[in-house]
Amino acid sequence: MPDLARIKERALACKKCSLSETRTQVVWGSGPLDAAVVFVGEAPGKNEDLGGEPFVGAAGKILDEFLSAADLSRDDVYIANTVKCRPPNNRNPLPEELSACSSYLVAQLVFIRPVIVVALGRFAVHALLASTPLATTTMKDVHGKLINMGQFKMLPVYHPAATIYNPRMREPFFEAAAILKQALDRT
Ligand code: URA
Ligand code: SF4
Repeated sequence: MPDLARIKERALACKKCSLSETRTQVVWGSGPLDAAVVFVGEAPGKNEDLGGEPFVGAAGKILDEFLSAADLSRDDVYIANTVKCRPPNNRNPLPEELSACSSYLVAQLVFIRPVIVVALGRFAVHALLASTPLATTTMKDVHGKLINMGQFKMLPVYHPAATIYNPRMREPFFEAAAILKQALDRT
């Protein structure tokens, strides 16, 4: 089993991709290491880059609503991102950044061994489905559907920030919270 604390320590000084040149700090992730549920976002935004914690800005408020709709609190779950450093001006992560950073997320999942991974948005979904037959799937096709990944089940969910700009996503977004709650009740 990898020693996650050692990997984290190395990650905090990581320069494997050029996001290291513009970040304020690496946003590793937070939450209990025995969490049954891990949430994976896209990448830190401005507030996260400054605060060092994931989902502390506007998207974090929506994530909190999702958590309470699923009968969960922040203390129950581990939260991390696909890419650990903020892309300049919140642009999309580039393929080379996603691949440079992927081993950290893998280490987090291998160590924590969650029952369910909630993948928030297409970058998280695609990072987790990269080497499977669903690699080219669209968000719309998989949103709210539990996917068996072997070691864990993945629940793809629209990114919380997307629901701010597209209110039509709010209903399916919170339906996914109910699906998460049902799945947890079964375990
Ligand atoms: N959006 C993300 O995907 N991750 C964060 O940590 C904050 C906003
Ligand atoms: Fe390292 Fe990931 Fe940050 Fe790139 S985004 S510098 S790979 S921690």
